Amino acid sequence: MLIVMKFGGTSVGSAERIAQAAQLATASADQGHRVVVVTSAMSKVTNLLIDAAQAASKGEWDPAVRQQLFERHKAVADAIIGGDAARRAAVLEAIDRRLERFEKLCYGLSMVHELTPRLLDAISGTGEMLAAPLVAAAIEARGRRSRAVDATDVIVTTDQFGGAEPLMDLTHAKAVALLQPMLEAGAIPVVTGFIGATADGVLTTLGRGGSDYSASIVGAAVDADEVWIWTDVDGVMTANPSEVPGARTLPEISYSEASELAYYGAKVLHYKTILPAFRKRIPVRILNSFNPSHPGTRVSVEGHPSASGVKAVTSIRGVSLIAISGTGMQGIPGIVAKAFDVVAEQQANVLMISQASSENNICFVISSSDAPRVVKALGAALEVELSRGHIEEIAERPVAVVAAVGDRMRGTPGIAATVFTALGDAAINVIAISQGSSERNISMVVDEQESARAVLALHGAFRLSEA
Ligand code: ADP
Ligand code: ASP
Ligand code: MG
Repeated sequence: MLIVMKFGGTSVGSAERIAQAAQLATASADQGHRVVVVTSAMSKVTNLLIDAAQAASKGEWDPAVRQQLFERHKAVADAIIGGDAARRAAVLEAIDRRLERFEKLCYGLSMVHELTPRLLDAISGTGEMLAAPLVAAAIEARGRRSRAVDATDVIVTTDQFGGAEPLMDLTHAKAVALLQPMLEAGAIPVVTGFIGATADGVLTTLGRGGSDYSASIVGAAVDADEVWIWTDVDGVMTANPSEVPGARTLPEISYSEASELAYYGAKVLHYKTILPAFRKRIPVRILNSFNPSHPGTRVSVEGHPSASGVKAVTSIRGVSLIAISGTGMQGIPGIVAKAFDVVAEQQANVLMISQASSENNICFVISSSDAPRVVKALGAALEVELSRGHIEEIAERPVAVVAAVGDRMRGTPGIAATVFTALGDAAINVIAISQGSSERNISMVVDEQESARAVLALHGAFRLSEA
């Protein structure tokens, strides 16, 4: 089999974790599989890089950051490479070169005081380029050939900095040309997650948490047999285990369930991960690098039936509900169209929409970081309706979206009733509700402070702790 294995930040967060990742990759290679590794940055490094870039753009560049990053990565190199002085020097040289570039970029920022999305990508993508040489060295320390590969040479993307999309034909050609010969020579390429480059070679990132997406893109590009996402929990669970102690691993879910869960807040998978694998019907596994004997979750076409129809409960925070309301909105055509034109112009992603049939209120949920911009633009675009009193108010409030997800919710009666009884019993006010016509998801808008309780209440009501 050809397996693309992705290791997340905690799975490469220390010398021991990197050694374990190398062990997992080489164990599969020893069983006769061809393996491509995709690595994240070491845990917390991406945040540190972003903070440094933001500080630098305010004229507060702290040169100690470079040293701090160097020390952390050097300590790993020292631990995993041991006595091979030439190899150690080569790895440290590669790391230093990346940090040199990082420092120069930050220094430039501190002069111009302006952080563009393009520059932020150039800086925040450094973490993966620091980790890959270490992971490759750890694999070589286990006696197998390996090479760090910058995804800028593999994944060709659009120029949407901060959330670039892969151009799959170009990516396929580059991935095959670069990775195939390494695989044929019995080596394990270690590709940087999170980043890519435009056709002109400008570095881009795929969005926060995007290394999962990188793995699926690389998997599709090289026609992998499977994509394995190694993380720090036993797979995709019925809820976030840090919020719901009784959360249970789902042994099998469908591509559509995985996408829906990721989209509605299950951080274990980046929300775009599934699509490239799905297009080629490549099974995706989510596995725990801290507990590798656990079978984890398998994502496939069929998924697996579940008694209640609901498989998992998720939540998204950091979002705002925008409500446009007015008794005079009835029968005035075009308000909805105008509102969504504004949202599109502002490039805000709508997570959920709800409109009462009385037509005197339309509300939708967007990221809180987009909300002030969108509300301002709505006020301008709907000025006439506001001045005539057809619209009385455009309001914004911070909320959370809680969602119950499962393919077999479709055609299972009583799910909405269970949801409302559970939330009612817990005295949680539901501000808005939406059910997609796919019937794979019911999502509720609740007060931000109520979201953890709402998730617990729904998880309990659908008895998701029970197999
Ligand atoms: P990585 O660094 O490996 O990419 P992430 O932190 O991005 O790991 O994702 C794993 C985390 O996702 C888990 O530690 C857990 O806290 C969180 N999580 C949220 N929802 C779920 C869920 N439904 N199932 C499993 N993990 C979840
Ligand atoms: N290192 C990147 C981030 O923290 C990508 C990832 O870990 O998936 O967002
Ligand atoms: Mg992640």
